[in-house]
Amino acid sequence: MVAIKYNDQSQQISLMIKQMKLTIIIPIYNEEKTIPELIARLESLSKTLCKSHKLSEKEIEFIFVNDGSTDTSFNLLKDYCLEYIGRKLVNFSRNFGHQYAVSAGINCSSGDHIVIMDGDLQDPPEFIQDLYSKALEGFDVVYARRLRRRGEGWFKLITAKVFYKLLKRMSPINIPEDTGDFRIINRRVADTFKGLKESHRYIRGMISWIGFHQIGIIYERDKRFAGSSNYPLAKMIKFALDGITSFTAFPLKIASHLGMLLALLGFFYGIYVIGLKIFTDQTIVGWASLTVVVLILGGAQLITIGVIGEYIGRIYDESKNRPLYIVEGIYNKGGIS
Ligand code: UDP
Ligand code: MG
Repeated sequence: MVAIKYNDQSQQISLMIKQMKLTIIIPIYNEEKTIPELIARLESLSKTLCKSHKLSEKEIEFIFVNDGSTDTSFNLLKDYCLEYIGRKLVNFSRNFGHQYAVSAGINCSSGDHIVIMDGDLQDPPEFIQDLYSKALEGFDVVYARRLRRRGEGWFKLITAKVFYKLLKRMSPINIPEDTGDFRIINRRVADTFKGLKESHRYIRGMISWIGFHQIGIIYERDKRFAGSSNYPLAKMIKFALDGITSFTAFPLKIASHLGMLLALLGFFYGIYVIGLKIFTDQTIVGWASLTVVVLILGGAQLITIGVIGEYIGRIYDESKNRPLYIVEGIYNKGGIS
């Protein structure tokens, strides 16, 4: 065992690094109803992995990141992590968001392989065996592709489908469709990931960007065990915008293409109007058509200003260079830091 000083988001946190083989990261936001079942299934997975993959219990680490829960999740996890070795709770000072919780988990992980999974049991913990086996074949990233998503409404299914198709078309990076953050990565991907400091995070895209050998395997996404999604529409839109703006400047180009198209249309329409005036005794009358043109142009201009604003807002956020998240404390059997 070696004690090292670990610089995490400008907070000095002393971590005891063991020879960990596998770290499982679970972001938690108001999951009190699910936590007992989650822990039971993770513990049983840990036992199975010890048998099937010849690991010792000490080589498996769980990192829960409490993302400012307002229910009893923190207390439940704290009691559990203070009691058992290899169970760690990273507690945020407030709610920062799912992607930051996962980032914190990766930054604090010490395993040779690191699994990212949701804490609502939509990602079945038992599937981690398959992910781990595949990773041991020599892949750097094994992501879980959703064959089906049980218990999700048509609106989420359709918007998710459209979003992934759009992103695939626009982005030069190949971000796999029907894939969430449920995946296993190895140490070299995790260490590379730590170097990506951007403040707007779209982790599945960032991991695709890193490259190396990546492969997907199919799984069936379960229903939420309890409660309802913490991704309401507004958060989903923000997440989708982060995905698009982090990986492509294509929307900025749409503005110039649209501008050129409209200018061209205007030019030909102008020729048509002048032609009518010179060669016929007809003239174009009516303010209605004028209003329509003004409205369309005004709308197009506002949309393009909005798109530019989205990118400028993100440049502003990046330029502040703030830490991604603030850790209130880390709780494990070794003590509280
Ligand atoms: N989560 C989080 N912070 C948040 C929202 C969600 O840590 O602000 C966690 C949540 O507890 C869960 C995972 O992120 O473990 C995925 O969230 P959720 O199930 O609400 O998203 P969905 O599956 O509906 O997309
Ligand atoms: Mg969920």
